[in-house]
Amino acid sequence: ALMLSLLSLAHAQTEAHLNTALSIEERITLLMEEMTLEEKIGQMNQYNGTWDFTGPRPEGGTEQEKFQHLKDGLVGSMLNVTGVKNVRAVQKIAVEETRLGIPLIFGYDVIHGHKTLSPIPLAEAASWDLEAIQKSASVASAEAAASGLNWTFAPNVDVSNDARWGRVMEGAGEDPYLGSQIAIARIKGFQGESLAANNTIAACAKHFAGYGFAEAGLEYNMADMSISKLYNSVLPTFKASVDAGVRTVMNSFNTLNGVPATGNVFLQRDILKGDWKFNGFVISDWASIREMIAHGYAEDESDAARKAIVAGSDMDMESHIYVAELVKLVKEGKIKEGLVDDATRRILRVKFELGLFDDPYKYCSEERENSVIGSEENHEAVLDMAKKSIVLLKNENELLPLKKSGLKIALIGDLADDKNSPLGSWRLASDDGTAVSVLEGLEKYAENQLVFEKGTDLAIGETAFVYETKINSTDFSGFEAAKKLAKNADIVIIVLGEHGFQSGEGRSRTELGLPGNQQQLLEEIYKVNSKIVLVLNNGRPLAIPWAAENIPAIVEAWQLGTQTGNAVAQVLYGDYNPSGKLPMSFPRNVGQSPIYYNNYSTGRPINKDNNVFWSHYIDAEKIPLYPFGYGLSYTSFAYSNLKLKKETYNRAEEIVISVEVKNTGNYDGKEVVQLYINDEVASLVRPVKELKRFELVDLKKGEAKTVEFTLTEEDLGFYDNQGQFIVEPGVFNIMIGESSVKGLSAAFELK
Ligand code: BGC
Repeated sequence: ALMLSLLSLAHAQTEAHLNTALSIEERITLLMEEMTLEEKIGQMNQYNGTWDFTGPRPEGGTEQEKFQHLKDGLVGSMLNVTGVKNVRAVQKIAVEETRLGIPLIFGYDVIHGHKTLSPIPLAEAASWDLEAIQKSASVASAEAAASGLNWTFAPNVDVSNDARWGRVMEGAGEDPYLGSQIAIARIKGFQGESLAANNTIAACAKHFAGYGFAEAGLEYNMADMSISKLYNSVLPTFKASVDAGVRTVMNSFNTLNGVPATGNVFLQRDILKGDWKFNGFVISDWASIREMIAHGYAEDESDAARKAIVAGSDMDMESHIYVAELVKLVKEGKIKEGLVDDATRRILRVKFELGLFDDPYKYCSEERENSVIGSEENHEAVLDMAKKSIVLLKNENELLPLKKSGLKIALIGDLADDKNSPLGSWRLASDDGTAVSVLEGLEKYAENQLVFEKGTDLAIGETAFVYETKINSTDFSGFEAAKKLAKNADIVIIVLGEHGFQSGEGRSRTELGLPGNQQQLLEEIYKVNSKIVLVLNNGRPLAIPWAAENIPAIVEAWQLGTQTGNAVAQVLYGDYNPSGKLPMSFPRNVGQSPIYYNNYSTGRPINKDNNVFWSHYIDAEKIPLYPFGYGLSYTSFAYSNLKLKKETYNRAEEIVISVEVKNTGNYDGKEVVQLYINDEVASLVRPVKELKRFELVDLKKGEAKTVEFTLTEEDLGFYDNQGQFIVEPGVFNIMIGESSVKGLSAAFELK
């Protein structure tokens, strides 16, 4: 009897944390009192699990070890387990077979939609439409949650100005302000009002920090920069994410100023968890704890584990190092157990907030999986997002929009009937081939005569992962057939660009033109018919100076996800008037990279006295091909009446600026009104321009609206090289306009 009551007492104790009347912090404390050191460290361990868990358990190998660890309560999270059946099978082990039954948190890279795919994040950023972006993230989270997931490794908030870097497709472009606004929208979309709902998931701001400034755009390369640049260019999107309540942050593969981000005390302890008071948890990037050995920063696994936990990396993604090393480090007194406690508490906090302790299977309903995923409503949302992401780069003589009947159209390009590429990098592999191709879209929306030839072959084959070696540039055999079609057509639509796996992680490029022999194809087609609409599909800015010069109409359509073809067709046929603006500068050639709008004055910006010693290239222009913020519409907009209430302000005053924008063309349309500032003289040189506000305005044909912006002193300050935010008096120039290079100007003084 004594034995029995002791047992039930133990049981009662282990259940105490399930009491929903208590606060989350109290529940964590109760649970942690029950946990052994090993179990706490187990919470800090995340394993990859891409296989089928519903079948027999593996015998031998790493997989068996992972199962053993699962049962022993030595795993806190799994990534890449997909589908309700699978998630349920794994969760069952955690809940029923471990001593304390602590549920796992399931993570996945839901980067731009789960199964119904949205445009790649860079494309979405081109919409400057925060509402649509938030909606797109909420569709993604609803589908991911319906598929059993609790956590996405998104948004990627890495600011980057280097088109050579393949991961620019995953971010929001080159600007910290636009990037911050978009980060907030995405986090709101993923996390919703409450994580306790069953259609919201925890978000993860990544990669902390500096990854987007990899030298020479080379993947995983070091980032080295001043403290002021770090604070002004890299950290704002992360700070905005933390302020918006993001529950997790992922650190980064790169070194920052010589210290791997994963072992970086300054970044994770001082800034993130110190100054910003972030109380969620930090997940390492894939095996980034182990990588500190390769970096030459940690001696061995034990040293890597110690450096990572001291720096505030809470969860180990697939290094298998925390689970192997931390117990010993604590027992030998080499690290304080308090570090483990802090990490465990942070991880448990997010699990409690997600409601996993109240119902570990709350995300696991096959019924929901079947009804939510791929619903008509979701397809409509991603189509809406896709249309808004398109940027009209050129439209000479109003070649676009096209008539819906009576035209003979030659459609050319391998990407035009591609149902895989438009999905872009980062998606569930099983979704290959589900996108609406441009060919299918064009067929659906009009009654024109449409004939198709691919002209060349991007030759992706089965090996997306080694795509860069597979590009076909020597086979010209398809050119003649394509030229023949073009010659006999009223108009040519040619779809060129990058394959879906040519950008993304591990896809840095040293050339930024059209891959393979697509450029030659374009020039050959042009010889027989110059009435060309060039539709670009790509995951990064491309350098296409010849096309910009010669091709009359150019449409930047990125990789737009599941609804690609429908979105492109609606824009080409004028059912949607394009409204996107570039979130990254497009270079003329790769030698200009990195090229970005918020640069510094070189001190010799113009050629005054001689023609050599000023800041320029002797073989190319120094301005971008298409600047940040640029994008056309089928209608036109006129800016007038830029008004500043006063010319001088003191620090506490709000600075109110207004401008009138009028739709002066022949179509209803939307315009992104952009406000830039420039701090004329400062104790640290400030960028020639910085975006500080923008507004998307809807204007009917002939309609005019006054747009008003309010700035405060915070918009005028910057971080110095001690990481201190300062606001200095002086003259500030304002520009409001349609892009970073075109607008009306004014100036005011801050006292
Ligand atoms: C990437 C992360 C991603 C992780 C898990 C890493 O290689 O850098 O962004 O979340 O893999 O897939």
